[in-house]
Amino acid sequence: MIARSVGEMAKVGTERCPLRVAIIGAGPTGFYSADHLMKRSGLVVEIDMYDRLPTPFGLVRGGVAPDHQKIKTVTKAYDRIASKPHFRFFGNVEFGTDVTLELLRDYYHQILYCTGAQTDRDMGIPGEYLGGSHAATEFVAWYNGHPDYRDLKFDLSQERAAVIGVGNVAVDVCRILCRTPEELATSDIADYALEALSNSRVKEVYMIGRRGPAQAAFTNPEARELGEMEDADVFILPEEASLDPLTREYLEKSQDKSIIKKIEILEEFSRRGRSGKSRLLTLRFLASPVELVGNDDGKVVKIRLVKNALHVSGDGTLRPKSTEAFEDLDVGLVFRSVGYRGVALPGVPFHEKWGTINNVEGRVTTVDTNEPVVGEYTAGWIKRGPSGIIGTNKPDALETVNCMMEDLEKGRILEPLHPEVAAVQEMVEQRKPSSVSYEDWLRLDEIEVARGKELGRPRLKFTRVEDMLEALGKK
Ligand code: NAP
Repeated sequence: MIARSVGEMAKVGTERCPLRVAIIGAGPTGFYSADHLMKRSGLVVEIDMYDRLPTPFGLVRGGVAPDHQKIKTVTKAYDRIASKPHFRFFGNVEFGTDVTLELLRDYYHQILYCTGAQTDRDMGIPGEYLGGSHAATEFVAWYNGHPDYRDLKFDLSQERAAVIGVGNVAVDVCRILCRTPEELATSDIADYALEALSNSRVKEVYMIGRRGPAQAAFTNPEARELGEMEDADVFILPEEASLDPLTREYLEKSQDKSIIKKIEILEEFSRRGRSGKSRLLTLRFLASPVELVGNDDGKVVKIRLVKNALHVSGDGTLRPKSTEAFEDLDVGLVFRSVGYRGVALPGVPFHEKWGTINNVEGRVTTVDTNEPVVGEYTAGWIKRGPSGIIGTNKPDALETVNCMMEDLEKGRILEPLHPEVAAVQEMVEQRKPSSVSYEDWLRLDEIEVARGKELGRPRLKFTRVEDMLEALGKK
């Protein structure tokens, strides 16, 4: 970790001494960062991308809803990035166990963490962890065939379910609960999830927002889609769809077009009656869960809500404030969709409160003094928190790459003992003989697509690491 002198450093990033970068995490941000680095004029860079799974693409594979196939075509751009010279993928190699930070410092000038946000936030209410109450992030990972979550069980024999939160993840979960087996069968949903959801007895789903419709975090196309499901009606109580005076005042001033559109969509839902579809999705607003109530077996049977009113908070935003009015909803299944949270990486400074790697504009910094840690960077959700759409990570990655380039110029980089590409290959082969290359992944991809084709589906995913390795002849 010794910073070289500026004169000596000028050579790094050239044909004679390429800049060696390790990217941890093969999600969208990892690929956008690689792309920004490769496009940097005059820079010769060698990139190794690590992922703990044998499959790349992070939440595009494990998070984006299976009925949103079009969004997943973004991976074509990632394939193009991966096909460039000086790019390698080491899948099935976990940072912190298979390769450690100490070890990577011996091989790279710069290490960039793009590990996303892998867990969920707490709500901090009694009964939160009763049986039948699940983190939405786990349900999402389950139906998307993530190997770590494929064996989870969800009691879909329940007739009434609640989804807490009104972000796009909550919308995804509601849609997946309300879709027909035929609708789901045209997606790349995991085969076991397709079977379980085809036998689901869920008839009523509530999506619960603590603020009003104008403050709902979901985006307009996602809201509109809720009204277009084949066999599920959508409904909002007219009094909950209408605007409170503070929001009305705000909108009159701001004329925010996207919120005005959102209100129109939701008001239209409130005018709809039941059309005879088998399922009903009810959007609730201005209500916060205060407790999940369980039965003697420790299973959730009720969600207790307090009605909220909005008030202007110190920062000028409209926040919920509880009233004295309570309401109980009988539900046997709850999905807590109140946001993702980042997980700390071994040896990397972590901001516990925010659930992000401690950083300034992407430069990893120490927790105590906020001093930059030489050679370490971060981008994406693990840098800024779980916000924005896939494309938001492009400018975010650029900000970090700009810091990396500035530091390279100033000689603030690591001094690896083994800066040769062959040395890394040897090290990884020794430590993780079953690592997966990008060529391996492309073969796996082809097999999944071929398996899906036989069933008339976009792909049939492998959902166990062993099965992936076996298909690649690595077991
Ligand atoms: P999100 O957009 O931050 O939404 C979180 C929701 O949880 C908000 O409605 C929030 O309400 C609510 N919430 C937070 N704490 C709560 C509490 N204690 N009690 C009740 N409600 C609470 O997060 P997300 O849905 O997990 O999505 C993460 C990111 O991924 C977002 O940027 C999202 O747009 C993106 N995403 C995009 C798509 C897509 O483009 N189709 C799909 C999935 C995810 P408040 O607003 O009142 O805090």
